[in-house]
Amino acid sequence: MTGFETDVLVVGGGPAGAWAAVSAAAAGATVVLVDKARSGASGPTAYGAISLWHLPPGPARDEAVRRGHAHGGGLGDPDWMHRVLEETHQRVEQSARWGYRIAADPAGPARRRIYLDGARYLRRMRRAMREAGVRVLDHHPALQLLVDRDGVVAGATGLRHHDGFPRWSVRAGAVVVATGGCAFLSGAAGTDVDTGDGLLLAAEAGAELSGMEFSCAYSLIPPGTAEPAALGSLALRFAPLYDESGAELPGHRSAALAAIADGQRIFAALDHVPVALRSRSARHGLGGRAERVPLRAVLEGTVRGTGGLRVTGPDCATTVPGLFAAGDVVSREAISGAVSGSGGLGGAWAIASGVWAGTGAAKFARTVDRRAPVREVPGAGLNAVARIDPRAVVGLVQEHTLPLRRSYWRSAGSLRDSIGELDGMWPGAEFDLGGSGADLLRARQAAALLAVARWTKYSALLRAESRGMHRRTDHPGASDTWRMRLMTGGMRSVWVRPDAPHAMPEQARDIVA
Ligand SMILES: Cc1cc2nc3c(=O)[nH]c(=O)nc-3n(C[C@H](O)[C@H](O)[C@H](O)COP(=O)(O)OP(=O)(O)OC[C@H]3O[C@@H](n4cnc5c(N)ncnc54)[C@H](O)[C@@H]3O)c2cc1C
Repeated sequence: MTGFETDVLVVGGGPAGAWAAVSAAAAGATVVLVDKARSGASGPTAYGAISLWHLPPGPARDEAVRRGHAHGGGLGDPDWMHRVLEETHQRVEQSARWGYRIAADPAGPARRRIYLDGARYLRRMRRAMREAGVRVLDHHPALQLLVDRDGVVAGATGLRHHDGFPRWSVRAGAVVVATGGCAFLSGAAGTDVDTGDGLLLAAEAGAELSGMEFSCAYSLIPPGTAEPAALGSLALRFAPLYDESGAELPGHRSAALAAIADGQRIFAALDHVPVALRSRSARHGLGGRAERVPLRAVLEGTVRGTGGLRVTGPDCATTVPGLFAAGDVVSREAISGAVSGSGGLGGAWAIASGVWAGTGAAKFARTVDRRAPVREVPGAGLNAVARIDPRAVVGLVQEHTLPLRRSYWRSAGSLRDSIGELDGMWPGAEFDLGGSGADLLRARQAAALLAVARWTKYSALLRAESRGMHRRTDHPGASDTWRMRLMTGGMRSVWVRPDAPHAMPEQARDIVA
C-alpha cells in the first residue's frame, strides 16, 4: 500500500479536476490529483474542438441568461448562470495571460461561445498544475472514499494501474470529486472513462443527487468518422437532415432522434456546411462530402445531460462534509435546467465549479484535525471473490439505457420494467461482483453503471410530465406541478423526492412508496 497525505485530494483530472487542483493550490493547499487514465489526455475535452459558453458582461449576457432560463424549463437559477458566466470570463482572461490563444465562434453572430482546442487546453492545464506544485498521479483509479467516525470525508483509496495493481491511499483534509458524468459506455467520444465512479463513491458516503431524470442526452454522428467531438456537432448544426424518403426534417435534431427511435434512417447533407468550417472539418475526414451521410444516435447520458451530485452552496460542497464536487459529476440544473448542457455550458461549468470546489476544499481542509482515525466506506462490487461477470451487469444496464426507446422516449411501463430488471441485478452487484487487479476495477465500474442507471429510472418514473430532455409518452406536456427539482439517492433502496417536499403531488407519492 502506497500512502500519501495532503490538504486536498482531487479525484479526476479532466478540466474540472484540473481547475479545482490549481485553485486549491492557489488558496495555499497542498494538492494531490489522481486520474484513472492520464490527466490531460482523458475525457471528452481531449477529443477536439470544444465550445465554451462565454459572454463578457453586458446586455448580451443578460439576454443569454434570460433565454437560457426559459429554455431550461424554469428549473435553472439566473444567479448561478451569471456566476458561471462571470467566473468563466475571468478564467478565459487568465488563460489568455498564460499565452493560450482562443478562437471565436465562426458561426455565432452574438459570440455566445468561443472555441478551444481541447487537447491543447488540457495540456496547458496540466502544465498549470505542475507550476502550482500539484502532485498528479496518472493511472490511479479511485475506488472508495475514506471517512472519519463522524462521516467527514478524509481521503480515498484505489489501485495503481501498473506493476500488479498495488493499492494506494491518500489521507486528505478535503476531497474534490471530479470524475465526469456517465455515458454508459455508449462509445460517445472520450466517454470511456465516464462510468459514474464518482457518483457511486459519493453516494455510498451518503451524498444526494439531483436531476437524474435529465440523463438522456443523445448526439447524432456519422458512423465510422473520427471527427473531433465539437467540430462534428458544429458541422451538423448547418447540415440539413433528411429522412429515408428524401424529405427534409423540419424539427432538425429532435425530429431526427424521434425518427431514428421509430426505426428510420436519417441522413445529413454535409455539403451545406459553410465553406470556412468545411475546410476544417475536411481535415478531420468529416466535411467536403458531396453525398448525404447516414447518422446514428449515441447516448451521452449525464455527460451532456444534466443530472449529478447535489451541491449545497456556492463553494460546491456536497451534502457530505469534506466532500466537494466539480464538473459533470455535479447536477448542472442550476445553469441548464432540464435541457442538455451542450452549447458550451458543460465546459464553462467545469471551469467555474472547479475553481469554486477547489477553493472551498482548501478552506475546509484548514479546519480539519487529520489525526482522527479513518475507515473505508464500504461499497458495491468490492468483494474479494467474483461470482458474476461484470459484462453481464454492463450488458443489462446498456439494454435499459442505450436504446432511444428506453431513454429518449419514456413511459411508466418501460420505466417500471427497467427498474424491475435493474433492481433485480443489484444484490448481485453488491455481493457477487469483485475480484482483484483489473477485474476489481471492471467490477466496480459495472456497479457504478448499474447504480447510475437505477437513479435515472427512478427519477424519470417520478417525474410524470415531459420537460426538456425528459420525454414521457404517457405524459406528453409539461405541468406546473412539476416545476421543481428532484433529489435522488440510496443504494439498496433508491429514493426520490422533490427539493420542496410540500410540492409533492399526491399521486407521485404512490409511485415511489
Ligand atoms: C462528444 C462530446 C462533445 C462535447 N463537446 C462539448 C463542447 O463543445 N463544449 C462543452 O462545453 N462541453 C462539451 N462536452 C461536454 C464536456 O466534455 C464536459 O462537460 C467536460 O469534459 C466535463 O469535464 P469534467 O472534468 O467534469 O469531466 P471529464 O472531462 O469527463 O473528466 C473526468 C476525468 O475523471 C477521470 N476519472 C473518472 N473516474 C475516475 C476514478 N474512479 N478515479 C480517478 N479518475 C477518474 C477520467 O479519467 C477523466 O480524466 C462534450 C461531451 C461529449 C461527450
